[in-house]
Parts: sequence; C-alpha cells; structure tokens
Amino acid sequence: MNKKINKVLVANRGEIALRIMRTLREMGIKSVAVYSAADISMPFVRYADEAYALEGNEARETYLDIQKVISVAKKSGADAIHPGYGFLSENPDFAYEAERAGIVFIGPGHTAIRTMGDKTEARKIVGASGVPIVPGTNEPVEDVQEALRIAREVGYPVLVKAAAGGGGKGMRLVRDEAELGPSLAGAQSEAKSAFGDGRVFIEKYVLGPRHIEFQILADHFGNAVHLFERECSIQRRHQKVIEETPSAALTPALREEMGKAAVNAAKACGYVNAGTVEFILGADGSYYFLEMNTRLQVEHPITELTTGLDLVREQIRIAEGEKLTFVQRDILRRGHAIECRIYAEDVGNNFLPDTGLLKVLREPVGNGVRVDSGVEEGSEISVYYDPMIAKLSVWDTTRENAIAKMLRALSEYIIVGVRTTIPFCAFVLRSEAFASGKYSTHFVEEYWKNGGSVSEGMGEDDLKKVLILAAFSLEGKKSRGANGAPRIEAGSRWLNKRFEE
Ligand code: ADP
Repeated sequence: MNKKINKVLVANRGEIALRIMRTLREMGIKSVAVYSAADISMPFVRYADEAYALEGNEARETYLDIQKVISVAKKSGADAIHPGYGFLSENPDFAYEAERAGIVFIGPGHTAIRTMGDKTEARKIVGASGVPIVPGTNEPVEDVQEALRIAREVGYPVLVKAAAGGGGKGMRLVRDEAELGPSLAGAQSEAKSAFGDGRVFIEKYVLGPRHIEFQILADHFGNAVHLFERECSIQRRHQKVIEETPSAALTPALREEMGKAAVNAAKACGYVNAGTVEFILGADGSYYFLEMNTRLQVEHPITELTTGLDLVREQIRIAEGEKLTFVQRDILRRGHAIECRIYAEDVGNNFLPDTGLLKVLREPVGNGVRVDSGVEEGSEISVYYDPMIAKLSVWDTTRENAIAKMLRALSEYIIVGVRTTIPFCAFVLRSEAFASGKYSTHFVEEYWKNGGSVSEGMGEDDLKKVLILAAFSLEGKKSRGANGAPRIEAGSRWLNKRFEE
C-alpha cells in the first residue's frame, strides 16, 4: 500500500499553510496553494510551487467549499491534500470526497473523523474502551424536563454542549435549575446556526479544571504512540491562548496513565495519522476524556520543540503507508516549551477581535525562539477569517528559563496597526499563578480584571515600541556611518535618554 506522495494541495491559509509547505519543500514534495481573493498577496500563496484562486472571500465560498478545493486538486495533479486545522480539516465528507477522487487525505479516515466529530458518539466509543469520560449523557437531550432530570442526577454546575461542537460554540455553563431552560434553548439554536446540527448533551462541569491533551501518532499497521502532553489551560471564551509542555500538573505516574488512555482512545476508533486526545483534569486529580481532535493542532510546535519530531513529516509518512519508525520508549522529551498565540484582539475589551493593516511588524528571533507566522508587514488582518497573526514558541532547558525566554521574546515583538494578545501573554507569564504552575482554565476570570489591572503595563509596552521605532528610523536617517549604514547604537542611546527624562 506504499504510495509516494509527490504533490500536495494545502487546503488552508495563513501560518499553517506556510508551515506545512515548508516541510513539503524539505521532503522534495511540490506544494499547491488555494487562496481567496482577500489572500492574494499573502506569503503562503507566493511560497507555494503553484497557486490557484478560489473565487470569493467568505470562508464558505472558498476554504470551506469542498467541490472547489477538490477540483483544484484534480486540475493541479496533486496526489494528496493536507487540510491543516480549522476549515475542512475535520469534515468527514471532505476526506471521503478526496478519497473518492483518488487523492490521499493526509489525516485519519472519514469514519474516524465522523465518529470523533460527534461528541456523543466519541463519548460512547471511548467510554466503552475503559477511558474515563466526564459524567453526563451520551445521547442528545431534547426537552427541558429531561434536561432537568439529568442535571439533577449529574449535579450542578453542568455544561450544555453541542454534539457537533467546536471552537467553544454551542456551549453553556449552567449553575442551577433556573438557568437550565434558557441555556438549553440558547445552546441548541447556537449549535444549529454554527454547525447545522442543533443536538446538545449534558456534561458535569469539572471544578478548577485544567486542560491536558496528548498528541498521538498512529500508522496503518496498528502501531500507536503518544508524544506526551500539552497543557492548554490559559484560555479565554473556552479557547486556548497559551500552551506549555510538560504540564506542571502531572506526576510521572499520572502522565503515564493518561498517555496510555489517550492511545487507547485513539485505538478505540481505529485511528490513523496524527491526532490529539483532550482531557479535563479536576482539582482532585481525576481526569476525563473530553474530545479527540482528528487533525494537526494549532499548538503542535511545542511538541515538536520538545521531542525533535516534525509532525507534518510524520503525517505525510503515515499517509504514504509507512510504518512508524519508533515505539513508545524511543520517544524522549527534553526541556520545556511554551507557545503564545498572537491574536489581533483587544485584550482590554473582552478579547474582541481586531482588524486592520500590519503597519509595522518585527518578530523576535534568537536561540530557542520559533515564530510560526503567515503574515508580513503590510498584510491585512481581515474580517473574513480567524484573527491569528502568529504563534510564538520558545524552548529552553527548564520551565523557569522558558518563561524568561518567552518574556524576552514578547518584549521584542513589535506590531503596530492592530491590538494584540501580547500584553495579555506577558501578564500571564509574569504572574505568580503561572510561575507557581498552579493555575486552571479560570485564570482570566481570576486574575485578568478585564485588562484594567495591566492597562499601565500595556501603555508602557506600547510606548516603548513606538519609541524604539522612532529611534531606529530617526537616527537611521540622521546619522549614517561612512558607508551609509544607519547607526543603530545611536538610536538606542537616544531611547535610553528618553526613558531617563
Ligand atoms: P470545543 O470543541 O468547542 O473547543 P471542548 O469540549 O474542547 O469544546 O472544550 C473547550 C474548553 O471548555 C475546555 O478546554 C475547558 O476549558 C472547557 N470545558 C469543556 N468541558 C468541560 C467540563 N466538563 N468541565 C469544565 N470545563 C470544561
């Protein structure tokens, strides 16, 4: 069944499209980009060996249009499709259509995507394999009376969740009986409009929870391993902003147990390729299966930094029908890695997405710093897609060193034109709660008083950046050396003087 892949259509955009194409180039595989009108001048379009326009701007008429994407794949002669994350990556119909067209889908089979994409189905299958699942229902709940009965049994607080859910949509926290009726109706209608599927179920709300997930890899020969955990408890709106590995919450024994549970969960649905098994860890050390993401995760770089593996390369090898070249005990993890997601958001205003032109962009560099970015100076963060600008990841020998490195890298990041999550990330990394390793998914409610407490910090950071830029450009113009090169040292002296004043 070995089939060498020669040309891959990357059915995605931005940083992840670029990240995938880089590995393709290293492997001597041609890359094909598809792009919307709004993305015509984005770096991933230029990087690809071939690029094809998808008419329109909205995701629905471009990156989410199965027929358009498949027809480009055929036209370009691509023998495989990499879906990245988001968009069509977890759409079983897309995987099915690709297979039907004789194109390799770089991911699991469409049946595993379908099973794991339905949270109630996933709960049934994974629960039956002996992995603990969050107490709640495995069948969709329709009417309020039934919901009241179940919630009473499970015990408040509970979560009403969309069976087809993702991105925190169709999810409602319910503290008592009075809230249940309206929350049920709200979640149902939100799920219907977001996923075209209004089915919801009820789950116990785990208190003081931490989000711990395990990266897994499985080949077509029944071999499956995990690449350790990632902790993703720093979230807003139930969505991740900062991730780290190793997690400070796991003992070696718990790590081993959860790692085995993750591999079992994947095996339960005949999983092949890279995937992530998500768990919720309670304050009392109990853990429960939450869901499985059947694709590459946004936060995969921290696993790459600590294991040395290239997950996209592994995905492609598996899709080519190769066996995994390692077993569990071969996989070693070294040091500590942290990722900060740099979103265009107003962190002082409830993390509201921001849009605009990236007028100035300077990315941090240096030992142990990795920036996965899909933009450049002059790029536009548009209303059409996710407002992520880049992912900043660092690696160092210890957690303490990694925190210091991340703070250094964040301080070097200069973005002018949109508001970003940089001040929030710096706040988290500087906080005692994060430093102690004792934090939960409630970090934002507990410590981030909606940006108020750090507005001074933010102002100072912004001021510093503007001054740095001014210093560079002014002094660059005013004082040039004999060879015409700008004198940067003069600029930083000017900056220091400004700070002293
Ligand atoms: P989605 O697929 O919409 O992202 P998830 O089921 O992955 O939803 O949950 C997203 C986040 O919501 C989790 O990381 C966690 O912070 C919170 N969450 C989900 N289920 C629970 C639960 N049962 N108890 C506590 N928090 C939860």
